[in-house]
Amino acid sequence: MKNVYMDYAATTFVKPEVLEEMMPYFTEKFGNPSSFYEISRITKRAIDESRGKIAKALNSESDEVYFTGGGSEADNWAIKGIASAYKNKGNHIITTKIEHHAVLHTCEYLEKQGYKVTYLDVDKEGFINLDDLRNAITDETILVSIMFANNEIGTIQPVKEIGAICKERGVLFHTDAVQAVGNVPVDVKDMNIDLLSLAGHKIYGPKGIGVLYIRKGVRIHNLIHGGGQERARRAGTENIAGIVGLGKAIELATENLDEHMNKMSKLRDKLIDGLLKIPHTNLNGPRGDKRLPGNVNVCFRFIEGESILLSLDFEGVSASSGSACTSGSLDPSHVLLAIGLPHERAHGSLRLTMGDRTTDEDVEYVLEVVPPIIERLRNMSPLWEDYIKKGEK
Ligand SMILES: *Cc1c(COP(=O)(O)O)cnc(C)c1O
Repeated sequence: MKNVYMDYAATTFVKPEVLEEMMPYFTEKFGNPSSFYEISRITKRAIDESRGKIAKALNSESDEVYFTGGGSEADNWAIKGIASAYKNKGNHIITTKIEHHAVLHTCEYLEKQGYKVTYLDVDKEGFINLDDLRNAITDETILVSIMFANNEIGTIQPVKEIGAICKERGVLFHTDAVQAVGNVPVDVKDMNIDLLSLAGHKIYGPKGIGVLYIRKGVRIHNLIHGGGQERARRAGTENIAGIVGLGKAIELATENLDEHMNKMSKLRDKLIDGLLKIPHTNLNGPRGDKRLPGNVNVCFRFIEGESILLSLDFEGVSASSGSACTSGSLDPSHVLLAIGLPHERAHGSLRLTMGDRTTDEDVEYVLEVVPPIIERLRNMSPLWEDYIKKGEK
């Protein structure tokens, strides 16, 4: 039976080289880095080394890198921590309608606490309008949180321009770069980024480890209180093996970035071209270099995303109907609604995300199994029957 994994945006496998570096930290090198003996110094050194690798990948300083329990924690910390620290300056936050739920639900929570949040619209390819951003900033604005690249439709925002606007207006800029790091170039200095979130398990590192980059000089309150770890900003005994794994993963990802981007864009474009040959199929998100290299997201009209997933699963293809968080629920994706798709079309979406182990043959296999699935499902669909009878309205 074929086994084709096309859900890299949900999570990746851990690279063998990454796992190998992690292993000793579970068994021999297990010392608590806060203690005063040799095996502790070993783990403390390992953390410092990993921090250095992450700083190098982001073009930041080592002491601007803080380890967290993953991408969601980094997003929560950035937004809640800034909201709380800058409460006296203002109570307004700007974000977008297409953020990951780790950002959206955090903003909704803050609205209940009395903050005001502006959710910027996006165009039909998922881009924000820079003038909308400029116009939304007021004297009360303390934070702009806009994702680097979208996890569903792959849209890469003009991050450098956003950073420049925020800098000019004296507003802090946070970006959720969980999908961007390791897939496209990221440079916090050049792009004027004040805070940035990333996660291990989207870049061939382990789950449950992430980073919040906090530019020096940015005031932020703690999310997790307790011991003095992470320079007293994030309490809790360090996830040493995770930290070591994340350092190795980001090092590998950035070393081979050009090659990886090239390979992924070719596979992506081949898959998109093939899928668009199916009648009544639309691409969600942009084409070209403003789209994440491994991301494909299409809508097949007249059918349900969930039924496509079931049929694909039967053929050995692991895919998603949007974000992992929305599969299983009957609500259409907030991202697809934000780019202007009607509910009916947003329900028929399929996300295929590729990565390190994806081959040309995998793409060809998917292009072989998808068309008959769509045809069969359409033949069972009352929407399709209506369309055939009456013609398009
Ligand atoms: C996966 C993801 C997250 C959440 O990261 P976790 O490590 O799973 O908590 C946040 N933002 C984006 C864009 C993601 O893709």
